[in-house]
Amino acid sequence: MLFDAHNHIQAVAFDGCLPEVLARAAGAGVGRMMACGTGAKGDWERLLRLDDTHRQAISVSIGLHPWYVATADLGWKVTLEKILEDRPFRIGEIGLDKSSRADAGIEDQMKAFLWQLDLAEERGLPVSIHCVGAWDYLHEALARRDHLRYMLHSFHGSPELTETFARKGAYFSIGPRSLSAGKRTPEACLAKIPPERLLIETDAPDSPLPEAIFPTGPNEPARLRDVCTRAARLTGKSVEELEKLTFDNTERFFSIP
Ligand SMILES: [Zn+2]
Repeated sequence: MLFDAHNHIQAVAFDGCLPEVLARAAGAGVGRMMACGTGAKGDWERLLRLDDTHRQAISVSIGLHPWYVATADLGWKVTLEKILEDRPFRIGEIGLDKSSRADAGIEDQMKAFLWQLDLAEERGLPVSIHCVGAWDYLHEALARRDHLRYMLHSFHGSPELTETFARKGAYFSIGPRSLSAGKRTPEACLAKIPPERLLIETDAPDSPLPEAIFPTGPNEPARLRDVCTRAARLTGKSVEELEKLTFDNTERFFSIP
């Protein structure tokens, strides 16, 4: 069975076709998934509804994504704390992004990120982290947080960067973008990830699927089967071995009983 460690199944893109998307995921052997919040307009409400209706197959992480820091409701921190009091959610997707997709500057993103990391530490919750072009800020944010459990989602760093975070105890989630990371050979990055901290994800519907590697079609949780097959080939493991390894790692990371 496969565990999609990071997606956005609550996204508007799946409105009107959710039963079919989930049936295709089940057909591809995706038995569980972690739906990650963003804090875009209406996103957290959609997650709460999914939690009410699909708790068996879908777990939830909640957080304010760096793309939406400037447009978040003024009371977002109070809302987030209240949701975490009521529901056993994890924290994510949160992080730092220096690309033009982010609506706030890096210093404001950092404030929101640090506050959410503090919250995760206080409550002992695992965190799903997004980082684009802001590794120096990420190092600073994670310094002296020895007990924080976190994963770097859609990870595709250099072997040196992978090694640095591996030493700090990070988990690494590999998705379509990781497996087609331009000039950097994904094999070299994968070789530096401790096997017990490797996860796989689709990031559906967000990450586009590179045509050269994946058959054409939209990104949805069922495509985790393709991610697993590709990652197995690159790590020299059998598909069955990688499937079991990443499922167990993901359950352990998120403390799913
Ligand atoms: Zn995501």
